[in-house]
Amino acid sequence: MNYSLAIHGGAGTIARASLTPEAEKNYRIALQAALQTGAAVLAGGGPALDAVEAAVRSLEDCPLFNAGRGAVFTHEGHHEMDAALMDGHSGRAGAVAGVRAVQNPIRAARLVMEATEHVLLAYPGADELAREHGLPLQPPAYFFTEFRHQQLQEAIAAGRMQLDHASAPTAPADPNWKKGTVGAVARDQHGHLAAATSTGGMTNKRYARIGDTPLIGAGTWADARCAISCTGHGEYFIRAVAAHDIACLMEYKNLSLAEACRIVVHDKLAPAGGEGGLIAVDAAGNLALPFNSEGMYRAWQDADGSGEVAIY
Ligand code: ASP
Repeated sequence: MNYSLAIHGGAGTIARASLTPEAEKNYRIALQAALQTGAAVLAGGGPALDAVEAAVRSLEDCPLFNAGRGAVFTHEGHHEMDAALMDGHSGRAGAVAGVRAVQNPIRAARLVMEATEHVLLAYPGADELAREHGLPLQPPAYFFTEFRHQQLQEAIAAGRMQLDHASAPTAPADPNWKKGTVGAVARDQHGHLAAATSTGGMTNKRYARIGDTPLIGAGTWADARCAISCTGHGEYFIRAVAAHDIACLMEYKNLSLAEACRIVVHDKLAPAGGEGGLIAVDAAGNLALPFNSEGMYRAWQDADGSGEVAIY
């Protein structure tokens, strides 16, 4: 096999005790389905960009993850979703921030890249672009999940912005928080790379808060050397310009993908308090999936054909 693919469904403190076997099974099934969706594109000789978009769309349509359908609530009780993708071969990128209606924010991000001369569109203007081009829009009820609504009440009571809550709806008072942002990175059969990331952001976030996900270089990056998709407390990833820093370490210091990822996740983000992780692929198809949190929902398929779904 001469392609590689990795996906994530968020990183953070995923308490084993609060993840029921039933919930764990559902997460694994959803991750496996998204991986297969992306891998089918690559196996057919399709471009990395199509593969990462397809994998992320699959996760956006699943209410278990904090993106698209399962997006968390803002303080005011709305959903404001961010997404970005980047094509390493052409260097082109597209992103949306604060969209409220488009069913698949990652498709809107691609539209920004392909149908406009811009990189990042935000708020009603970004939803409007999606509407103009016929992308499906949804009413607020589509994005409502009881579990997320419960998280919002808890976050408001705690008086702070929260990373996505521990996954089991049966343990709403669990003090451990996880993040459920989704992302994908791929190397296609032509050796081209791409990355995509999509999120609802953080529960109880202030109106108009934008995280790292849609910021090219912070939460999402791809060039000829590497493709990166991050998940974690966005403000830390923005200040660290985390995704692009990996590309810089590889280019200027000639480090391997694994070493560059280790430095950013463990030596830079962790000491600063930047909890989270990322998935990465290089031009040879090597994968790295480091995280400094207790777990990260992830799945991958290597160039040698071996693949796995993992949480811890
Ligand atoms: N990075 C995302 C944000 O800060 C959250 C996450 O990864 O769960 O918006």
